[in-house]
Amino acid sequence: MPALKAKIDDVFNEPGCDKNRGKDEKARKKGCSKPLTPGAAAGGCAFDGAKIVLQPVTDVAHLIHAPLACEGNSWDNRGAASSGSSLWRTSFTTDLTELDIVMGQGERKLFRAIREIAETFSPPAIFVYSTCVTALIGDDIETVCRRASEKFGLPVVPVNAPGFVGSKNLGNKLAGEALLDHVIGTEEPDDATDMDVNILGEFNLSGEFWLVKPLLERLGMRIRACIPGDARYHDIATAHRARATMMVCSTALINLARKMEERFGIPYFEGSFYGISDTSEALRQLASLLVRGGADPALAERTEHLVAEEEAIAWARLEAFRPRLAGKRVLLNTGGVKSWSVVHALQEIGMEIVGTSVKKSTPEDKERIKQLLKEENHAFESMAPRDLYTMLCDHKADIMLSGGRTQFIALKAKMPWLDINQERHHAYAGYDGMVELVRQIDIAIHNPIWETVRLASPWDEVGNLTASPAGGDRKEEAMSATPVRAFRKFVNSVTDEMGEC
Ligand code: SF4
Repeated sequence: MPALKAKIDDVFNEPGCDKNRGKDEKARKKGCSKPLTPGAAAGGCAFDGAKIVLQPVTDVAHLIHAPLACEGNSWDNRGAASSGSSLWRTSFTTDLTELDIVMGQGERKLFRAIREIAETFSPPAIFVYSTCVTALIGDDIETVCRRASEKFGLPVVPVNAPGFVGSKNLGNKLAGEALLDHVIGTEEPDDATDMDVNILGEFNLSGEFWLVKPLLERLGMRIRACIPGDARYHDIATAHRARATMMVCSTALINLARKMEERFGIPYFEGSFYGISDTSEALRQLASLLVRGGADPALAERTEHLVAEEEAIAWARLEAFRPRLAGKRVLLNTGGVKSWSVVHALQEIGMEIVGTSVKKSTPEDKERIKQLLKEENHAFESMAPRDLYTMLCDHKADIMLSGGRTQFIALKAKMPWLDINQERHHAYAGYDGMVELVRQIDIAIHNPIWETVRLASPWDEVGNLTASPAGGDRKEEAMSATPVRAFRKFVNSVTDEMGEC
């Protein structure tokens, strides 16, 4: 545990983070976790955060040293996609019972589980995760992993982020540390070039990185490692030979990007593939870092050509949606997705932004949003569910874009909603992704279901059915006559619970 404590202190002292730099010594030591609000969801634990970051490494066996529930809680809670191995989607856990704990069988059970995985699946590596129970009983996963690695002849990587040490975000960073300590730099590639890049913090949700990868390939860039989306163990092990790094989600793996710059001299920048202008800017920055690192200077010009061509195609495709979407009002409660780049593209096709959250935006992003929005108060840090609901009920917005957690607010207000956070089912990255986002907005707004669910309830149409002795049955019959009515029944049950709009 002293080693883990030192690691956590190190992670909290992150010079690459703006917020961290702004704190004094004392505040920095307290870390970044906010006190929990009574009654509010607590969010994921550190183990969950580590698992989120590492599970999309697709050819690795992820072994959770814990009672069963930890794995049940954390398994594939994002829609990352793989183009190859599906081993990452198999759950491996030591499934510790009370008896194992009382009899001190934890480490032995872990060793046996590693042996079984190595013999049955022959993966290129096994990642072993500690959790609250196994850390509290003092199981030494580092030593077990080292011995197992020697015995079975494959890398067995300890991921020391038990849930109780902190938040999901801390777990993200501890996962990055595990890669730095045990994986990155452990193999030498025989095909390194001066056009190799790393992409950090890209999860390939719904396969969206596959919309961006062809753009990089057209420029002659090669992805040395995309961490973690659709990653392979050997790619990560050779990631230290890349010439430039793009960090996509800064809060998750900033420590990894900064330390790779310090240790291996790989420059990094923070960018985004959400929105047309952000995608172009990210391509330009990658090209510029590679040219500075010795790549052919003509790369900059080639990038400008590609950007001009792709932007023209994307704007032409978006133009087709203008007649259907111009004047429609959007409420953005986006979380991680860069608000301003989405705002810009939606405004370009004539949509009006009636509110956007800037909770996770940088000061520069907030400044851009301020310039784009007509009214300054349309940018909000966070909005209470009740206020979101009132806005939708008062028809101040035609659609809400948000994460799954707020979907029931829109459902209750009987308004269209689109998931744009990590659980989404569509790919929104790159130029094609932006067009897809607008297409999905169009589909959601013009879905005929909304007209139907806003109609009066069936029992209102046929009078007071419940007044008659057979009313209960007739009411059921009326409501479940068609799938649309069944859906309406569901919407109305939510509405009944929360009060009428
Ligand atoms: S690691 Fe701890 S907090 Fe996280 S799921 Fe397991 S028991 Fe719960």
